[in-house]
Amino acid sequence: MKIYLMTDMEGCAGILNFKDWVFPEGRYYDKGKRLLTLEVNAVAEGFFAAGADEVLVADGHGHGGIDPELLDERLQLLKGLTKPIFPFGLDSTFDAFACVGQHAKAGTPFSHMTHTGTFLAIDETVQGISIGEYGQMALCARELGVPTIFAAGEEAFAREAEALTPGVVTVGVKRGLLPDGLDDLSSEEYGEAKLAAIHLAPAGARKMLTAGAKAALEKFKEHPESFTYPEIRPPYEIRLRCRRHSGRTSPYTLVRRHPTSFIGAMNAPFHEE
Ligand SMILES: [Zn+2]
Repeated sequence: MKIYLMTDMEGCAGILNFKDWVFPEGRYYDKGKRLLTLEVNAVAEGFFAAGADEVLVADGHGHGGIDPELLDERLQLLKGLTKPIFPFGLDSTFDAFACVGQHAKAGTPFSHMTHTGTFLAIDETVQGISIGEYGQMALCARELGVPTIFAAGEEAFAREAEALTPGVVTVGVKRGLLPDGLDDLSSEEYGEAKLAAIHLAPAGARKMLTAGAKAALEKFKEHPESFTYPEIRPPYEIRLRCRRHSGRTSPYTLVRRHPTSFIGAMNAPFHEE
């Protein structure tokens, strides 16, 4: 069993805000990387306990979210932008796709550090289905014939994953305390607007992650058909509704398309509509 594990920082327990924890100039950036890396190790522990042979960890946080020195010795690390960027080194040789440290998509109520890619997004859709960073990768996995078996991050994200990819096993490690409905905010304002949450202690979260990952792989081995994807058909049209920002006074929409491939659409340039 060969598993691809996508990672992000903002959905980890103990990552409290953007400015101190996930940017290189932040005073707790190194601590933030440590928190994510230990969550990655906890997930890998569960996968190996359930019989995984190989786990590739993809560092999906733009500035880097993994401290290679702290990685479990059985893991491999992928960092850097592939060409084309999507599907970030995932291919059909993997048996399963999983993620950890993921935050919910833009616009999600009661999520923490909410965004899709950047603070610019109000919402992103493909064929009318709203997707976040998780959906972007999970639907690439779908196209490659790789099932999505495990999704961990904040609580609101766990619900998002269950809705998009029924059957996926989830773990939630923190709970956002603020509603959304903030489409009128600028991107700069939105980045400051969703910063209250209740976090599990990271040590406790890691125990849940190990148990969840183990359960996910065991379920996959027994009932591979229980992990499913939404029915979507080409041609693919990805629409990104954007907030006003310092350079724009009102919201606007960007579109990218591909006649046959979702991955192709993810790599296509955006055009304003
Ligand atoms: Zn992210």
